[in-house]
Amino acid sequence: MAEPLLVLQGVAKTFGGVQAVKNLSFQLHAGEILGLIGPNGSGKSTSVNLISGTLPVTSGTIHFRGAPVNGLGISQRVPLGLARTFQTTTLFPEFSVVEHVLTACHSAFNASPLSSILRFAAARQEEHAQRQKALELAEFVGLGELSHAPVASLSSAQQRLLMIATALASDPKLILLDEPAAGMVAIERKALSQLIFNIRARGVAVLVIEHHMGLIMEVCERIVVLNFGEKIAEGSPEAIRTNPAVIDAYLGSQH
Ligand code: ADP
Ligand code: MG
Repeated sequence: MAEPLLVLQGVAKTFGGVQAVKNLSFQLHAGEILGLIGPNGSGKSTSVNLISGTLPVTSGTIHFRGAPVNGLGISQRVPLGLARTFQTTTLFPEFSVVEHVLTACHSAFNASPLSSILRFAAARQEEHAQRQKALELAEFVGLGELSHAPVASLSSAQQRLLMIATALASDPKLILLDEPAAGMVAIERKALSQLIFNIRARGVAVLVIEHHMGLIMEVCERIVVLNFGEKIAEGSPEAIRTNPAVIDAYLGSQH
């Protein structure tokens, strides 16, 4: 198999006295849809924060596309091809859908020593290309009809789709989705499953974090399970579904 896209080795995160993530190691390959599950408070969002560079690790190493990224913050990881969505929707309510996606379209415009008039023409072309790309992404996630609607008018499920479109605008190799199905009804979850398959078909690997097992079991080839910050299982959906430690963790979390 080719070199993994993402490698975590002995990653840990401590907040004061709380060990949110302990000695976490796993790999993710290009073209893969990997699930990260666990009860509430098991360290899923913290793991996404560490992988995306939103938070620095306390110890351990993270490699992305063969290079260590420990010392890089989120804004330095995005250009390498690592994008994420947030569990809570953090959006610009007054923007239109397309404008929102445009905020993340990274400029390929190269300010080389052209004459100012040429630069202006090139910038215009670039702006047009990015607008087309933003429209295409809005359509891709199922918001084509709402391209010009204000973000504030979207349902919470639609806002989650918009966050995915915005994350895809940076042309990631890997997208991290933190509880993308939160607040969705069954039919919206069904559409989200299809969207996750379509994202992979674009050549983007997916790491999906969920509290509930349904969507994960449907879309993931492989699942990593956390409990109290530690990896307690890793395997196929079938193996995870019947794993006694996983069943215990989920049953235990209901008490
Ligand atoms: P999950 O996403 O699986 O529900 P989290 O990663 O959000 O879990 O949280 C794991 C643990 O770390 C919890 O005990 C939580 O209270 C704690 N934690 C998460 N973020 C912080 C933070 N910024 N400061 C202090 N404790 C935190
Ligand atoms: Mg969380």
